[in-house]
Amino acid sequence: MEPLRDRFGRTIEYLRISVTDRCNLRCLYCMPASGCAWKPQEQILRYEEIVVIVREMARLGATKLRITGGEPLVRKDLVSLIAQLVQVPGIEEVALSTNGMLLERYAEALKAVGLSRVNISLDTLDAAKFSQVTRLGSLETVLRGIRAAQRVGLHPVKLNCVLLRGINDEEIDRFALLTITQPLHVRFIELMPLGNPEFFHPDRFLSVAEAKARCEVWGELIPADGLAGSGPATAYRYRNGLGTIGFIGALTCSFCHRCNRLRLTSDGWLRPCLDSRTGVNLREPLRRGASPDDLNALIRQAVEMKPESHHMSLAMRPTCAVGAAGRQDEFETMCAVGG
Ligand code: SAM
Repeated sequence: MEPLRDRFGRTIEYLRISVTDRCNLRCLYCMPASGCAWKPQEQILRYEEIVVIVREMARLGATKLRITGGEPLVRKDLVSLIAQLVQVPGIEEVALSTNGMLLERYAEALKAVGLSRVNISLDTLDAAKFSQVTRLGSLETVLRGIRAAQRVGLHPVKLNCVLLRGINDEEIDRFALLTITQPLHVRFIELMPLGNPEFFHPDRFLSVAEAKARCEVWGELIPADGLAGSGPATAYRYRNGLGTIGFIGALTCSFCHRCNRLRLTSDGWLRPCLDSRTGVNLREPLRRGASPDDLNALIRQAVEMKPESHHMSLAMRPTCAVGAAGRQDEFETMCAVGG
């Protein structure tokens, strides 16, 4: 079967799947304190529907999956979904993005069914600040989750840290130090103008270039290639480091030319780019009994829609999109699309 190639010659082999828009945290930059208007249950893709889509994606050449959300571990029986996804012919790797709050409970079961590895969000190493940023979280609980992931071997364990000026900029060197003493892989991510419009402000933005300079207090950073799933990150390590540091310059660096992914939202839209409001609805056709060939055509349609690059900048955009054919009517948060 003809592999998935977009208009710019990029081969698509990676699907990010948001399994829920719900989350057990309310991170300042992601959503308002009151949470979001969660999607009704009947609009959320059932596990068997996700498996059908993944089978079709795999027939078209996808080899890698990432389960995200919302917080994927709040969805009932996530372990059983992962157990099914790792069995899909052609799928070589299934990874998970989590805030870590429930990881200690599930790490062993996830590893046992074949999850490859985890990325854990961690924006601060200060317990009081952690509670402030996440509103509902506990640093100690997440640290126990990280230790559990390491213990059961969900390697490489990556820590995703969103750069927030005035909140965690004084901790960048502390995060960097972790990669010297432990086999942990910290990834600094530039704040994107997505999620909570009340939080985003250009003054809060801190570039990966500045973060990298701050990391250099511990020594020279040497390019580090070959870490599983480096994706948009540019990775480095210290000469004596056990882990690595990745920089994801979502706004200041251009990595879209390497983009190899599509995103499946929790309510069944296939989105060509994190930044796009266009997409292809797979849920309705699936529920009307779409054949594999129909699905195949819809997936190719989403690939055709992939823009050459995202158009995010330091300006937050309005939170409502115009409803029109081929567009999702509602603006969705990072939670629904899956960050
Ligand atoms: N709950 C899971 C987690 O914490 O990893 C998956 C979903 S969460 C939306 C995915 C990632 O997106 C998290 O690491 C989060 O910090 C990041 N994120 C959310 N809003 C962001 C924004 N405006 N800019 C940059 N990263 C953001």
